Amino acid sequence: TSFGFARVSQNARQGLVNEVFSKVASRYDLMNDLMSGGLHRLWKADLITALAPPESGAPFALIDVAGGTGDIATRFLDAAGSGATATICDISKEMMDEGRKRAEARGIGRDRLTFVQGNAEDLPFEAGQFDAYTIAFGIRNVTRIDAALAEAYRVLKPGSRFLCLEFSNVEMPLLDRLYDAYSFNAIPALGHLVAGDAQSYRYLVESIRRFPDQERFAQMIKDAGFERVRYRNLTGGIAAIHSGWRL
Ligand code: SAM
Repeated sequence: TSFGFARVSQNARQGLVNEVFSKVASRYDLMNDLMSGGLHRLWKADLITALAPPESGAPFALIDVAGGTGDIATRFLDAAGSGATATICDISKEMMDEGRKRAEARGIGRDRLTFVQGNAEDLPFEAGQFDAYTIAFGIRNVTRIDAALAEAYRVLKPGSRFLCLEFSNVEMPLLDRLYDAYSFNAIPALGHLVAGDAQSYRYLVESIRRFPDQERFAQMIKDAGFERVRYRNLTGGIAAIHSGWRL
């Protein structure tokens, strides 16, 4: 049973994506833990390690696109020195509302973390502003990936880095079949149980299947102008971190 995202127009598709995240926002963090068995925490920690934020007090501005409830931005601020600031740009007000609550509860001030509503394909920022761009489990929701990559390139300063954490193509025999069984059956069932919503989670699984594999996505990043593009598989390719430099 397909959720039918392939058949709707591009604008309608983004509308459906927005609906999914506005509906699940309050349970989003719990669902992440349940569905990935906590693995998303390790993967996000890996992303921060790969980013290697400066520990000095030097200014360093991160933009975390599709930053949602703030997992990447807050981990980044925890790891970075006092000069670091983060901007979360997400299309969903509901996800960012959750993020604001969490940041407040953790005592992260507005001087260090800003929320800006916007579309990854058309970022509401001037060119060359940021020292790093991250996007975690976000780019596969974007309708025009090439437009989002071009925007990433535009808002980065020369000499700065792009990092993307995303579900990818499982490259281990056996694990791939287990993963298929898990994602097509268990994920929608869990979505139904916890969020009362199997459809949204069917969308999630479908969007993972439709996303380009490691090599193809790396090529798209190169096509956007990034150099020294690499990727690293996490947990057999269930997820991958792609990175590139704007030189
Ligand atoms: N980065 C967070 C994390 O890793 O926990 C949230 C990931 S969540 C799976 C995907 C996020 O992408 C949602 O918050 C959603 O609102 C956002 N999103 C979807 N389409 C977007 C777009 N075109 N531009 C910006 N954000 C978008």
